Amino acid sequence: EVDWFSLASILFLLMFAPLIVYYFIMSCDQYQCSLIDPLIDLLMGNKHLSDIWNKTPTLTYRAAGIYTLWVAFQVVLYVFIPDFCHKFLPGYVGGVQEGAVTPAGVVNKYEINGLQAWIITHALWFANAYYFHWFSPTIIFDNWIPLLWCANVLGYAVSTFAMIKSYFFPTNAKDCKFTGNFFYDYMMGIEFNPRIGKWFDFKLFFNGRPGIVAWTLINLSYAAKQQELYGQVTNSMILVNVLQGIYVLDFFWNEAWYLKTIDICHDHFGWYLGWGDCVWLPYLYTLQGLYLVYHPVELCTANVVGILMLGLIGYYIFRMTNHQKDLFRRTNGNCKIWGKKPEYIECSYMSVDGTKYYSKLMTSGFWGWARHFNYTGDLMGSLAYCLTCGFEHILPYFYIVYMTILLTHRCIRDEHRCFSKYGKDWKRYTAAVPYRLIPGIF
Ligand code: NDP
Repeated sequence: EVDWFSLASILFLLMFAPLIVYYFIMSCDQYQCSLIDPLIDLLMGNKHLSDIWNKTPTLTYRAAGIYTLWVAFQVVLYVFIPDFCHKFLPGYVGGVQEGAVTPAGVVNKYEINGLQAWIITHALWFANAYYFHWFSPTIIFDNWIPLLWCANVLGYAVSTFAMIKSYFFPTNAKDCKFTGNFFYDYMMGIEFNPRIGKWFDFKLFFNGRPGIVAWTLINLSYAAKQQELYGQVTNSMILVNVLQGIYVLDFFWNEAWYLKTIDICHDHFGWYLGWGDCVWLPYLYTLQGLYLVYHPVELCTANVVGILMLGLIGYYIFRMTNHQKDLFRRTNGNCKIWGKKPEYIECSYMSVDGTKYYSKLMTSGFWGWARHFNYTGDLMGSLAYCLTCGFEHILPYFYIVYMTILLTHRCIRDEHRCFSKYGKDWKRYTAAVPYRLIPGIF
């Protein structure tokens, strides 16, 4: 059932999310990243919408070529090059891995080769920048708005294709979810794990590859632009590159773990993931670097150290919390958390075919402090990225505001799902661990 609030939010996002992305990028391009000035100009009648639109770069053949080549290259890396990193990197889990059991009882296999794709892509990027000089390292920044149109075309095309596919040739019909509401189904997706062939998994590819591999390249392109414009790269830009680089590398190093996250285990593939991964993520998660091209902030040493500490502590909490749950679930509780055997609550649930399964909810380690302390760590890291930009404009702070809304909403959505799944066992768990994100507060 789709309640009116969900439907209203969905309609709002379908109509305005592309405009929001455009507004942010345009305000940097035409207003030095001020979010207020375009509004003032429009309200005072200094400019009309058409003036802003006419100054906006259009789709170009060059951008279309770059984008097509980029996505095609990532498809080739994903589909045709089996992972070799796990053969020589100790501790790295790659190659063919199994996902979680779907509601229809299917266990999908995935080729985990994201780290390899990231390494090859970045090796080529540096080889080009320092040796081959096929293209300028500022190429992404220089084509940023034309590339936005290309990303939108792909985002809408893939979401629409996924919708049509779910009606006519679903990968697994039993895992499809039809609510009967067109907008909800388009946005939140119908198919659970749409695939083409045996290995091209839409969720893993679009979540991980064109957007997240690009994230670090986009930041490098911003740093190159600073170098070109000002003859140096500021320490704030280096901090953004380092902190977000750690986050991206962490994602690929733990790609097998990612198969157990909500995105892969519970979300269906629709516009929310398809368009979001193609447009929202690469354009809005990289706003700090973009801002620093227009406002090159040089931080004092104390601020660099403070922001770095906040980012690293946030990252540590994020990673350790995720690691503790992963270890606990992989070993079925036969492990040590902070040197002790973990405590947990035994739970049971039923799949759609009526089979009863058993599970455990850990109440030790960070999972005893709060029910989503991994989100808290993520939020600390997100705040650190924003702080690198100083306090002159609000645009770089969009990220922390967005992440707070996203993760709080995700937390509530997940808890709703867990309650439907575990029933009274979930209530026992929330009684044992009463806070969601911040112990003693929320
Ligand atoms: P979690 O990794 O927290 O997974 C939640 C699931 O874990 C629940 O549905 C439940 O699944 C299980 N679970 C909950 N409590 C316990 C417990 N006490 N013991 C054992 N299992 C438990 O959530 P996400 O998948 O959302 O997040 C993964 C990471 O990705 C987070 O660190 C988050 O910050 C990050 N993230 C980042 C985003 C970004 O845009 N940068 C977006 C989204 C997430 P089950 O049904 O198996 O019991």
